[in-house]
Amino acid sequence: MVVLIFGIHPDDIELGCGGTAARCAAQGHRVVFVDVTRGESSTNGTPDQRAREAQHAAVELGCAHRESLGLPDGDIRSEDPAQERAVVSAIRRVRPDVVLVPSADDPHPDHSAGAVLIERALYRAGIAGYLTGPETHRACRPAAVFVYSGRREVTPRIVIDISEYATAKMRAIVAHRSQFGTDAASRPTPLNAAGFMESVEARDVVCGRRIGVRRAEAFDTSGPVAVDDLSMFLAKGGGG
Ligand SMILES: [Zn+2]
Repeated sequence: MVVLIFGIHPDDIELGCGGTAARCAAQGHRVVFVDVTRGESSTNGTPDQRAREAQHAAVELGCAHRESLGLPDGDIRSEDPAQERAVVSAIRRVRPDVVLVPSADDPHPDHSAGAVLIERALYRAGIAGYLTGPETHRACRPAAVFVYSGRREVTPRIVIDISEYATAKMRAIVAHRSQFGTDAASRPTPLNAAGFMESVEARDVVCGRRIGVRRAEAFDTSGPVAVDDLSMFLAKGGGG
């Protein structure tokens, strides 16, 4: 199975679903990260520094390939045809079975606009008559799309146990030293403020409580989830 995970900035995937990414990779799935921007508008860190940190984080999580689309940080426009083509092209190249995407319900304008851009691109990627330019990639319609939490929590319709991968997730987050470190040169932001890392861990702990495990990550679904055998809930619980 190929799992494509989109993030708007180079650290979004790690924060939102790093544990799930690591678990998918450990299960033998090919995990690909696509960052929509290089994060060049962030308060700390240069694009080159951020790219190196992102590659380090990807290795921590077992990601097979990570790339950035290089769309303009601070100027993501969900209805820009060129930006949409860039995302469609990425989907058609990676040809994922499952896609994890950021939530449109997020106060950061790039997160919300980027989430809508990705949603539109996922639809267009499946239209055979929609071309992304000179490329000849065939239409691609992934089997499932799940939405991870950003600055606001998503409705937890799918919850994944990441207890075994919590350490890898934290290592991947701190790999982004320019964002979460407290070097003398770094300017204060909510990300490097005292208590931020604890808040990330606390969210996973609270989410884990929902399914009786130590740590978990939650996802909303983009549509109904088909179930073939209701007995699957005997092992996992559900509906609570
Ligand atoms: Zn972000």
